[in-house]
Amino acid sequence: MADKRELSVAIIGAGAGGIMSAIKLRDSGIKKVVLFEKAADLGGTWRDNTYPGLVCDVPSHLYRFSFAPNPDWSQTFSPGSEIYAYVRKVAEDNNAEEMIRYNSEVTKLEYNDKRWRVTTTQGDQGEFDVVVSAVGILHHPVYPDIPGLDSFKGDCFHSARWNHDVSLKGKRVGIIGTGSTAVQIVGAIVDDVAHLSMFQRTPQWVMNAPNLPVAEEDKAHYRAHPEEMSAMYDQLAATMNHGFAAAIVGDNAMALEKIQEGCQQSLDQGVQDPELRAKLQPDYSAGCKRLIMSDRFYPAIQKPNAELVTDAIESIEPEGVRTRDGRLHALDVLVLCTGFDPHRFLADAEVVGRNGQTLNEAWSQGNYAYKTICVPNFPNLFFLGGPNSPIGNFSYLMTAERQFGYIEKLIGLLREGKLEEVTPKADVTAAFNQSIKDAMPQTVWASGGCQSWYYDRFGNVASWPWTFAKFEEDLSAPALQDFEAA
Ligand code: NAP
Repeated sequence: MADKRELSVAIIGAGAGGIMSAIKLRDSGIKKVVLFEKAADLGGTWRDNTYPGLVCDVPSHLYRFSFAPNPDWSQTFSPGSEIYAYVRKVAEDNNAEEMIRYNSEVTKLEYNDKRWRVTTTQGDQGEFDVVVSAVGILHHPVYPDIPGLDSFKGDCFHSARWNHDVSLKGKRVGIIGTGSTAVQIVGAIVDDVAHLSMFQRTPQWVMNAPNLPVAEEDKAHYRAHPEEMSAMYDQLAATMNHGFAAAIVGDNAMALEKIQEGCQQSLDQGVQDPELRAKLQPDYSAGCKRLIMSDRFYPAIQKPNAELVTDAIESIEPEGVRTRDGRLHALDVLVLCTGFDPHRFLADAEVVGRNGQTLNEAWSQGNYAYKTICVPNFPNLFFLGGPNSPIGNFSYLMTAERQFGYIEKLIGLLREGKLEEVTPKADVTAAFNQSIKDAMPQTVWASGGCQSWYYDRFGNVASWPWTFAKFEEDLSAPALQDFEAA
């Protein structure tokens, strides 16, 4: 059926999610699709993160778009550079670059008369019918608030802003943090550096996950039999989503127990020195913080030139890090593996919806959305990876593609002329968010006895508290009665 209304769509962010959306919207016949990207290159998190040892700990064969299967992944968990190359290839193969406007950070979105006026750092970009935010989740680096940080006279940088001009060879290197990033870096650099000090505030659970090369004959087999690669995807997805992810949200107690036992075993068997083992022993449930997958970390932290520092950091001085026991850990390089603020979304832009209300005002008591996708009073503005999206040990590409499928159906209502504005009802959205709050206590994020980046500043866990199957079901088709008739 021909469109009753010809739409224009602005997409924010040329990471994997934004590129996928742009390709699908253009291929569905929308003539004006513009992708605004604040940086000078595409790739999002895979552009920003280039630290040594970076791999995606989601199995490679789950980390792909349905329309761009990849038989060539080199390892069980592929390196960041390979994923960046994959995203770039998807963009190139689908002529997505011609839709991207680089160096264009969106600074303002203003809704007026059923259209969004878009302003970027390059100035006024005109009006669009629909805006899709694909700004990513782990995007805003967090710098620790440690006295004297600026006084350090060696090289100091955040893991997501790796300074490749600095050689670590033969240097005394400090790593602050014990998350997935720090663990991967420690495994990758320990043999190069003179001395490595890892500053741990909280020990982490580490699942022993060998990262094996994919044999050339297996790649050839996937190339010749794409249907088998697709079957493997389904099987991996079922294992991850119905086993692991269901365990984390409190829906598979047996699987959670197995995860806990597996992690404990990898600590007990992987670390010889009882004193070090005790320091690495978490006192909360596995899965409470995002689970770390690595077979390199325990061997690395036991090397003679590595030290796990568990005394709290007191301050940073020109020569290194001073811990509370009074000791100065002299360093040449300090790497801040202190994570990201995943709750910022579009906070840096002025987003003015219906009735002049801004998104920051609407979210002043916490971010919320209808089914992770859209917000009352901000019509025709849709989020990929929006509030309470499944985050953690999921394939973001899988999540984003599911969300896009739903957004596409909402955009379809506009194209077919069934609605002029797509706005979820305020009371339905409030009820949905209450159901999230009600379900959260059963998840291990909330019940496991830890602090993590899943929590927002109001003490709410900002993830999807149900199974991935429910996520897929909720986003399978819009329930029209949940939207304003307009
Ligand atoms: P993170 O998990 O948030 O870890 C931050 C670390 O910094 C924690 O150990 C934290 O300690 C520590 N920290 C923060 N402020 C500190 C301070 N002032 N003093 C001392 N320690 C401090 O960050 P991340 O490792 O960058 O990982 C973030 C997320 O990125 C991951 O959970 C994952 O989703 C994603 N990621 C994925 C992969 C992958 O392979 N797919 C790889 C890397 C990252 P506390 O625990 O005590 O707060």
